[in-house]
Amino acid sequence: MSKVTRIISVSMMLTVLSAIILVGCGNRHSDKTGFNKSDIAETISQTSESEKGSQMDSLSEDNTDTETTDAEITDTEAEDSGQTASEEDSQEETSNPYIAAREPYTRVPVYEDMEHIYMNTTWEYADHSAISDGYAVLYKAAGERKNIIVGVNAGHGTAGGSSVRTLCHPDGSPKSTGGSTAAGATTATAVSGGMTFYDGTSESEVTFRMAQILRDRLLSQGYDVLMVRDDADVQLDNVARTVICNNVADCHISLHWDGDGLSYDKGCFYIAVPDAIKDMEPVATHWQQHNVLGASLVNGLGDVGMKIHGSGSMAIDLTQTSYSTIPSVDMELGNASSDHSDETLENIADGLMAGINAYYGY
Ligand SMILES: [Zn+2]
Repeated sequence: MSKVTRIISVSMMLTVLSAIILVGCGNRHSDKTGFNKSDIAETISQTSESEKGSQMDSLSEDNTDTETTDAEITDTEAEDSGQTASEEDSQEETSNPYIAAREPYTRVPVYEDMEHIYMNTTWEYADHSAISDGYAVLYKAAGERKNIIVGVNAGHGTAGGSSVRTLCHPDGSPKSTGGSTAAGATTATAVSGGMTFYDGTSESEVTFRMAQILRDRLLSQGYDVLMVRDDADVQLDNVARTVICNNVADCHISLHWDGDGLSYDKGCFYIAVPDAIKDMEPVATHWQQHNVLGASLVNGLGDVGMKIHGSGSMAIDLTQTSYSTIPSVDMELGNASSDHSDETLENIADGLMAGINAYYGY
């Protein structure tokens, strides 16, 4: 076959493949991130045998094509590779009554409601964590599920977190901006203690209450929630929290109030990625997603009347975004002067929900 003919035939196969994908995914809401983690697992478990067969046939040749760069097709090939594995598994098991049916192997685990998610030592950057004995908790929405897992990270709340250190950047390079850790440092406290509101309440207590309110709001709107800290304390440092989100959630939102020492409420903002680390992986591949998510959340907060600080963002070199491989943002929802009554936190949750819905196209 000539090269031109081959290119044309591959293009035609991709067109057919796209059509099959569109038909097969007719009930899925498309979003900016294409397939998400929960989506893949759910889709495979719902796909009928006949659909699998037709998709397998059309994909057997396409799988040899490695030149495609189209994100959606690449994702779907990954999904279908998972189907190949699951079909082989089911053929091996046939109908032995003494072997319990189990979830097909999809490369993306199917999580149960309220499942405890521990660090997996094979995950990228897992070895950079200093505190990783704890677990996050996955909450699944009861109805109108969007198949999107939002990682909700209540900032701080890790006993012993300020006495151990982790690398600021995965590659060991120095921090580019000041913050709770000075610029030029290569290590930072694994999890700092957080600030204290002027009424004596600790930041970690307020971030946890905020996380609970946001969790319930997300669940009621069909989002699944990965509660990174589901109690007053979790033994997961900032690296571990980020690595777990990277591998389980579709986005990662950490909740904070700024410890700026100001005597007035300066308003909400998100921590943007500083220019100095935009060439460093995994930041280089993901910083735009981080900033788009952050801007969307700040827009939502502004829409519900929350005060916004300056332009709504401040560029700081954070451990969280330095290790994130999914859309990830640190939200500063005010400072030690801010009101943190449930009424205000409910309003913040409204704003964050508006931002999340806008980000995912709802
Ligand atoms: Zn904080």
